[in-house]
Amino acid sequence: MTQITPQPGIMDIALYQGGAAHVAGVSNTIKLSSNENPLGPSPLAITAMQEAAATMHRHPSSDHLALRQAIGSVEGLNPDQIICGAGSDEIIAFLCQCYAGPGDEVLYTEHGFAMYRISALAAGATPVEVKERERVTDVDALLAGCTARTKLVFIANPNNPTGTMISAAEVARLADGLPGGALLVLDGAYAEYVEGFDAGAALMAERDNVFMTRTFSKIYGLGGARVGWGYGPAAIIDVLNRVRGPFNVSSTALAGAEAAVRDRAYIDRSRAENAKWRSWLSQALAELGIASDTSCTNFILARFADQAEAEACDTYLQAQGLIVRRVAGYRLPCALRITIGDEAACRKLVAAIAGFKSEQGTA
Ligand SMILES: *Cc1c(COP(=O)(O)O)cnc(C)c1O
Repeated sequence: MTQITPQPGIMDIALYQGGAAHVAGVSNTIKLSSNENPLGPSPLAITAMQEAAATMHRHPSSDHLALRQAIGSVEGLNPDQIICGAGSDEIIAFLCQCYAGPGDEVLYTEHGFAMYRISALAAGATPVEVKERERVTDVDALLAGCTARTKLVFIANPNNPTGTMISAAEVARLADGLPGGALLVLDGAYAEYVEGFDAGAALMAERDNVFMTRTFSKIYGLGGARVGWGYGPAAIIDVLNRVRGPFNVSSTALAGAEAAVRDRAYIDRSRAENAKWRSWLSQALAELGIASDTSCTNFILARFADQAEAEACDTYLQAQGLIVRRVAGYRLPCALRITIGDEAACRKLVAAIAGFKSEQGTA
């Protein structure tokens, strides 16, 4: 028997299941499974990445100063309190690695993002899942779930895969009720979809136990580039920078993200298009008898009668080249998560679901 064994906790990690990108035997698929911006990246970001490609023999900036300054000026934040990562996934991993180990607890909600559990286990800590209330983050349940061993509390606001969010007052109540040694992490992956929302930044100004993560993978349309960032108290940024590899973000990714964050017109257009087709889609689904919560994100969690109907609909959509996301792994077996595509994709999706419903009716 081999003596070579992984650290405790590692073998408890189930492999992350990403959104599918292909259907066997079907070409011209429409991918609505990974919450990507259907408009793609800003053209200015594409140009910046192409230009950066010419100097790929050089190592990237290791302090990410230009990108941190661009984010700081756009978001009104101190660049010294920003850290950049290979996606916000890497920032989540740094937080777990630095603040949670064997015997420590990492809290997150019932339908919370998969990386919280994965990163907690990778750090040897104990993941603790807390109930939501009707698919909404429940602050009382989170506070009740805290113990003296709680080190990190992750909430995505708005949340994936539910699409719901809680108010700034509720977030403040959560931060203020946490035990002394616990850090609240606000995952703002979808914050830009909420007009005028600061993702919790104002609340952080008065507290030293709150941290925020953000990403270029969603509204910025740069999921392939792998860039995310964190913002928090200077002391925590200092800790995270000690475990961060010096060249963790590539020069193309840094250049693309910097151009993307400065292109506010593109973000405003992406947010407006998303809001328009999101309300159209949720209403069309409701007319077909498919309920969903009001979404604050770029996806809708469509609820079906039962697991069998959700799976049958998914199979039907796949045959038409429409790829959506099953969320049984998020304890939502009766639902499908559907990214808001462009107009053509939304119309094709609704036509297909109408076809599914009428076939079901005659079956
Ligand atoms: C997509 C997503 C992220 C982003 O991850 P990246 O590593 O930045 O691509 C983070 N949190 C949530 C809740 C997400 O849905």
